[in-house]
Amino acid sequence: MNAPAYIGRFAPTPSGYLHFGSLVAALASYLDARAAGGRWLLRMEDLDPPREVPGAQDAILSTLASYGLEWDGQLLRQSDRHGEYAALVERLLQQGLAYACTCSRKQLEGCHGIYPGTCRDAGHAPQNAAIRLRVPNLSYAFIDRVQGEYRQHLGREVGDFVIRRRDGLYAYQLAVVLDDAWQGVTDVVRGADLLDSTPRQLYLQKLLGLAQPRYLHVPLIIQPDGHKLGKSYRSPPLPSDQAAPLLVRALRALGQALPGELEHARPPELLAWAVSHWDASRIPRSLTLAETQLR
Ligand code: GLU
Ligand code: ZN
Repeated sequence: MNAPAYIGRFAPTPSGYLHFGSLVAALASYLDARAAGGRWLLRMEDLDPPREVPGAQDAILSTLASYGLEWDGQLLRQSDRHGEYAALVERLLQQGLAYACTCSRKQLEGCHGIYPGTCRDAGHAPQNAAIRLRVPNLSYAFIDRVQGEYRQHLGREVGDFVIRRRDGLYAYQLAVVLDDAWQGVTDVVRGADLLDSTPRQLYLQKLLGLAQPRYLHVPLIIQPDGHKLGKSYRSPPLPSDQAAPLLVRALRALGQALPGELEHARPPELLAWAVSHWDASRIPRSLTLAETQLR
């Protein structure tokens, strides 16, 4: 059986509602998949129950529906995949590719987020400890379809990173690699805030012998004060009764040359036009909030 030529996905985290930046990422991922005649999957990244906002999962699904972004097949929830994550962590521990870390937050202060390898050879028991993946002292690079070449030295810029937290929760980096591969994802289209996670994901893919997807990181939307538009910044949730004007704004943010006569079209017409005219080479590398409003 031939593998499908294109499988894309949108993978929201229910720690908040979708905002304009999420719409830009979801729309780009949807259009890139549909324009290629591919499948577009939806995965709920509900790995962190304490940070989940009650009702956010349902709100995300109904927002996508009201914006006309229909996904293929069944929604996948990461909370249903704990068995797979646990088995992988176990295997990595047994192979000596991962190890237990008992460093406290306080001990890691002053490390600027780069783990210094304190517990690498300590032989701590995995219970009640974080599990870290050993990274090679190498740099990992890829060519992003919008951002161009991106390179990061895992040893110097990241260090051994957490794949299971001390509280037992699995890390995004681990789950995303396993699930993208399991779902057969060929193309990852997402926000540029994840650009600097990609080299960690490339390393995990290599380690596990998994195929590397193509990557396209859409620009983050920067507020006039330089803050990115994101959950931490309390950007407003997407209103479900404003789908058409916000799709128009999102298409413009993605550099797509929507004709003036479609400015007041309904979501199905907007999306149909956008699928048939999708041009990823027009996506800008960066954007300010003003640029998404003034054109
Ligand atoms: N769940 C991540 C987020 O909402 C996105 C993960 C991904 O697209 O790789 O930021
Ligand atoms: Zn440690």
